[in-house]
Amino acid sequence: MTARILTAKPLVERTKAKLIQKCESFKARGITPSMAVVLVGDNPASLTYIKNKKKLCEEVGARFELHQLSDEVSEKEFLSLMDKLNRDSEIHGIIIQLPVSESLKKLDVTNLVTPAKDIDGFHSDNTQKLYRGSTNLEALLPCTPKGIVELLKYYQVPIESAQVTVVGRSLIVGKHLALLLSNMCATVTMAHAKTKNLQDLTRNSDIVVVAIGKGHHLDETYFDKTKNTVVIDVGMNTLNEKLVGDVNFERVQDLVSAISPVPGGVGPMTVLSLIDNLMRATEMSLKDKK
Ligand code: NAP
Repeated sequence: MTARILTAKPLVERTKAKLIQKCESFKARGITPSMAVVLVGDNPASLTYIKNKKKLCEEVGARFELHQLSDEVSEKEFLSLMDKLNRDSEIHGIIIQLPVSESLKKLDVTNLVTPAKDIDGFHSDNTQKLYRGSTNLEALLPCTPKGIVELLKYYQVPIESAQVTVVGRSLIVGKHLALLLSNMCATVTMAHAKTKNLQDLTRNSDIVVVAIGKGHHLDETYFDKTKNTVVIDVGMNTLNEKLVGDVNFERVQDLVSAISPVPGGVGPMTVLSLIDNLMRATEMSLKDKK
């Protein structure tokens, strides 16, 4: 069996064309969708993520502004910038690039962006919708879970009634993805570092999503050739100076029916969801004005 490779590219191209049109229609009404990114320090990984977000934002015709603060920024200064951006009617979406510095560790940063501009989808008012059972992909949902579901739908992977193992339970990925898939009527097991016999779970799943941050951790022992499992690899790790996923692609690809590549899978889907959220936030800001 040779696995189908679930690349994001065709879906990104299709959705990007729609986002360009959407942006043009806002501009025709005198509005330029605009996002602000708040970065504390100069973490190289954060700078790379921001570069990718800026690129797609500008490619669709939206405006991007970066507010880079020093590692030693005080809580007061940081909160004052957030207040200014939250009030700025020319800014439709805001993200705080994580992680922030030690000087801000006491702040609940995920709740500092006003919910209507929360294009990362981290504010509790937005995530609460998932706890209430929402399956609405048009809401401001966390970007990686939303991107993964869009990728599964594009490749027509059945979600309803599927046995799914989500490996990793972070707030950015695993927890909200598990809720979203469960809302979509999958039967979901959320595994973590203390899960016993993880192989028993993954070997018996229709879909396995891996977000643990350990390069090539899942190998051939985690999959059963007879089960036609679909694998979504969220991991972004550097191994021998190469970007690799949490799954050992080479060893696994002949045992599963489909697998998302790293790079070129979940990463671009996350950025796409962010820009989609920016357009939705811009639309909502117009409704609020009516
Ligand atoms: P995280 O906050 O460090 O969480 C890792 C999770 O994995 C934890 O729940 C941990 O369990 C679990 N885990 C660690 N080792 C495990 C093991 N051996 N077996 C089972 N579970 C294990 O990480 P994250 O922020 O979710 O990110 C995970 C990976 O995804 C990273 O490589 C990150 O770079 C990548 N990522 C990619 C994107 C994208 O757009 N492609 C977006 C976000 C993150 P415990 O809770 O028990 O400690």
